[in-house]
Amino acid sequence: MKKGRYTIARRTTQLSILLLFISGNVFGWNVLRGNLSSAKIMNAIPLSDPLAVLQNLFTGHIAASDLFIGAAIVLLFYAILGGRAFCAWVCPINIITDAAAGLRRSLPSVAISSWDFSRSARYWVIGISLILSGILEIAAYESINPIGMMHRGIMYGFGTGWTYLLAIFFFDMFGVKNGFCGHLCPVGGLYAIIGRYGLLRVGYNLQQCSMCMKCLEVCPEPQVLSIVGTLSSSVRSGECINCGRCVEVCDDNAVNFCNIYSDKLKH
Ligand code: SF4
Ligand code: SF4
Repeated sequence: MKKGRYTIARRTTQLSILLLFISGNVFGWNVLRGNLSSAKIMNAIPLSDPLAVLQNLFTGHIAASDLFIGAAIVLLFYAILGGRAFCAWVCPINIITDAAAGLRRSLPSVAISSWDFSRSARYWVIGISLILSGILEIAAYESINPIGMMHRGIMYGFGTGWTYLLAIFFFDMFGVKNGFCGHLCPVGGLYAIIGRYGLLRVGYNLQQCSMCMKCLEVCPEPQVLSIVGTLSSSVRSGECINCGRCVEVCDDNAVNFCNIYSDKLKH
């Protein structure tokens, strides 16, 4: 149980958020209404996806003030918590990509491709989405955003949208390791930019580490764990999704969550 405590907590959070959205639709509950691009808590507090709002800005159409306030609340929340906590704890696509990554680890190496490309591609996708939004006058990435597609599918039925989600699953499982979330998704990319200022960090203690490297095996963004085997410190990169998988698999208790201030005191 201790091994999977963060994974269980993450799945519970992800599914609870989806259930709250569904209950809003089915029973008219006002706890959480809308979708993962734009929602309201208790019919009062707006929440908006900052990337969707940015794209709307680039279309040249004035967005409602609620959208800006919602984006500011979300930015502030994730700036404090650690930007990509959204990916690990809220986004439903993470359930698909985690499953693909888990199955990929169990496959023989001949069954999977070792092809890889830069993890910075997601920042280029942000730029291209914004430029296209300006040219086409629509929020360009939103029309292909699998997060919205999965959310709509769960709420109203999938139609052909499931083929897109299946393609992401197979791309991650047989193609590029952590291909979609770790390389391409601009939503995660934007949260990674905010995340480098987050207070919640993963801390690493070199003295307790037996160099088993299990943390690097399970981490969906292993480049953020470059400190492992070199120095006691905390993860500085905003690309860490705060999933806690490294903490769960570490038998030496060398990896743990910390906040940036306790980390500064320690080192
Ligand atoms: S990278 Fe994108 S799709 Fe993946 S979990 Fe984060 S927001 Fe969701
Ligand atoms: S460093 Fe740990 S918490 Fe961060 S992404 Fe990797 S496994 Fe998850």
